[in-house]
Amino acid sequence: MTTEPRDSYNPTEIEPRWQQRWDELGLHRTNLDSDPRPPFYLLTMYPYPSGDLHIGHWYIVTPTDAISRYRRMNGFNVFFPIGFDAFGLPAENAAIKSGMHPREWTYKNIDNMRRQFRTMGATFDWDKELITADPSYYRWEQWIFLKFMEKGLAYRKMAPVDWCPKDQVVLAREQVLGPDRVCWRCGTQVIKRDLEQWFFRTTAYADELLSYDGLEYPEPIKVMQTNWIGRSEGAEIKFVVAADEHQPGGQEIRVFTTRPDTLFGATFMVLAPEHPLVDELTAPDRKSEVEEYRFTARRKSEIDRLSADREKTGVPLGAQAINPINGERIPIWIADYVLLGYGTGAIMAVPAHDERDFAFAQKFGLPIRQVVAARGTDGAQGMYVAYVAHSPDEVLVNSGEFDGRPAPEGARAITTRLAQEDKGESAVTYRLRDWLVSRQRGWGAPIPVVYCEADPSCGMVTVPYEQLPVLLPTDIDNWPAQGNPLETHEAFLRTTCPRCGGPGRRETDTMDTFVDSSWYWWRYLSLGKEDGPVDPRRDEVWCPVEQYTGGAEHAVLHLMYARFFAKALNDLGVVHEREPWKRLFNQGQILGADGERMSKSRGNVQDPDELVSRYGADTVRLFLMFMGPWDQGGPWSPTGIEGIHRFLRRVWNVATDPHGVEQGDADAGRLPAGETASSAAEALHRQAHRALKKVTEDHAGYRWNTMISALMELTNRLIRLRGTEVAGRREWDEAIGLLLLMLAPIAPHISEELWSKRLATAGAEWSSIHTQAWPAFDETVIAESEVELPVQVNGKLRDLVRVPAGLSVIEIEQIVMARDKVRALVDGQEIVRVIQIPNRLVNVVTRPRA
Ligand SMILES: [Zn+2]
Ligand SMILES: [Zn+2]
Repeated sequence: MTTEPRDSYNPTEIEPRWQQRWDELGLHRTNLDSDPRPPFYLLTMYPYPSGDLHIGHWYIVTPTDAISRYRRMNGFNVFFPIGFDAFGLPAENAAIKSGMHPREWTYKNIDNMRRQFRTMGATFDWDKELITADPSYYRWEQWIFLKFMEKGLAYRKMAPVDWCPKDQVVLAREQVLGPDRVCWRCGTQVIKRDLEQWFFRTTAYADELLSYDGLEYPEPIKVMQTNWIGRSEGAEIKFVVAADEHQPGGQEIRVFTTRPDTLFGATFMVLAPEHPLVDELTAPDRKSEVEEYRFTARRKSEIDRLSADREKTGVPLGAQAINPINGERIPIWIADYVLLGYGTGAIMAVPAHDERDFAFAQKFGLPIRQVVAARGTDGAQGMYVAYVAHSPDEVLVNSGEFDGRPAPEGARAITTRLAQEDKGESAVTYRLRDWLVSRQRGWGAPIPVVYCEADPSCGMVTVPYEQLPVLLPTDIDNWPAQGNPLETHEAFLRTTCPRCGGPGRRETDTMDTFVDSSWYWWRYLSLGKEDGPVDPRRDEVWCPVEQYTGGAEHAVLHLMYARFFAKALNDLGVVHEREPWKRLFNQGQILGADGERMSKSRGNVQDPDELVSRYGADTVRLFLMFMGPWDQGGPWSPTGIEGIHRFLRRVWNVATDPHGVEQGDADAGRLPAGETASSAAEALHRQAHRALKKVTEDHAGYRWNTMISALMELTNRLIRLRGTEVAGRREWDEAIGLLLLMLAPIAPHISEELWSKRLATAGAEWSSIHTQAWPAFDETVIAESEVELPVQVNGKLRDLVRVPAGLSVIEIEQIVMARDKVRALVDGQEIVRVIQIPNRLVNVVTRPRA
């Protein structure tokens, strides 16, 4: 009998050694073209090279790595690449501070993060690494941009856009957050500016983006995207302006409504102050008031204008429109609660059934007419009546020949009538707007367009494909604190017009970094491809991505833009699929110990390097996986990391020295009471297979924490049997082998080291544990391994409980006493004793408390 430590667990020696060995063997280099195994494309969100990996990176990457290792052991040809989302503002801000070119800062950070990634022991295929700031990447992004232009999916237009005054850049609608309308990056409140901008036509796919058929996405992502796209069905209705003393009338004003059944209740009309007809329709005596109102409205934020509890303002134009259903003349107003960018920029106001219209009508004394009423009521209230959306229990009133019809039917009938008379039609609208992709920044992929300065008939000319990439200048020494340095960089700016050969000026806007991240997984497959962005044969084999992992924070940004790209590139014939990923998993967020988001400024950031040097990567990996369900995250607490480390040490001890015993353990070397060597060995055999079944099932649902619990229980039994006659028997050996194989995906270094020792002891040739097949559990062993026990309370049969065979008397008693039924029956009683007939019966004997 030996005592500890004989050969102790030393992760700082083991881990770098195996990482290097795996690299040398090319264990994780994927053959993308000719491998007989089924392909499995595993993708995790590539990081922004901010400088350091934080614990959040570990929390997403290390479990994803466990998926990769597990899939390999299950016979898949796994592709698990990594790259860097290398353009973007933080690099420019760092450049302004440090005087370094953003490129220099970015690539220095990438070097550091690469080193940190290696310490995780992640199985990335580093041969396929990509960096979006490399010309070899953005060249093909520019190519895609030109293809989008050809297809009408990219266009330029003047539009009121959201502008972040701090970052000096426009934002996509998706990048303006919350009711306060703040910049997604810096939290500054955005303002509106009119600018010429580039857009991608995401709205072309609005309907298709609403379908998640065949996709396994978390429910909240689907809900957020669906709400963002905001499809509503209704009717577009044409109102015609009535002739009056000032103008001949006849102009058409289109409105969209989801409630055509309320058309008889439209008692006035409201246009956005910016509506193009306002000037034409304003009566001369109303001009100055209208002008003044428009001026004030322009300076208000959208959120102010839309807020429901704000007092309503507006002015009449002095013109009237004709309600197409009944010929009634209704006044036309302008009011800032109607926005030009939403719908048609005009509404029919139905004050009896719309809260804001009601407030407006009350304030200005406009008529209110109820036209929908609960069945059996007369609808003569003349005030605001909330209706149930499209309820058949409500009927139309005050609606001429449509009176008495259930509301949904009335809506259809009125729409049909309008369509027959060419006064309207059923229509669908979306909240989704086209994606604004141009940015006024110097560290991004240049938009490949030239403005001819020689010949006005050339105008805007696209850069010919063979001239791509349009390279970013690398010689900007002092990055300006304000504005875009490309606008003053003569060598970049001055070029020749590709059409006429005269002088031309390059577009200085660059692309939103969300464009870079909308297609990178295709390029991982196609690195070095010189005649297109995507290798079509590899796309066919590997895509769509089988599993994507990463944060949920970009639900309507990256996670929606990428879906748009898949559809657009499919329409261009570049890829064969219309969805980028089959399965999406969003991990939870690791917060600081204070429950707040980790940030340097709060000082609550946990440095993974420090933990790794203290405990080793395997401990940190397991600790993160053991925290709780993967999609939940939670506040950081290092409590328990010692326990995980101790667990791995115990694994080490039982695997390296079956006959040793823990010091100070009184039971050491003795079989549990009542056990023979063969019954204890049999119980160990059963537990190992039960654990294998549990771990295999937990892999399907990424339930790392319960998987690790099962491995701890198995290790506990091994520890208990260490030094007894069971140690070294066939069942012992099998259990140790299974334990190591089960640990391999989650704790790759210690399992590899112990596996190699085991092979050496057996005199077998070395082969990596990570190339072994995932073991199969024996169902018959597991089936035999449970017994059903009748449970009596005071001699009466009360419950049946299934327990694993081979449990001790005490373990069985604990399970029985925890049963709800038993607890209810013995509540308030004193337990006299618990009688057990092994494998046959449990009887709980109680008496009333004295
Ligand atoms: Zn900002
Ligand atoms: Zn020209």
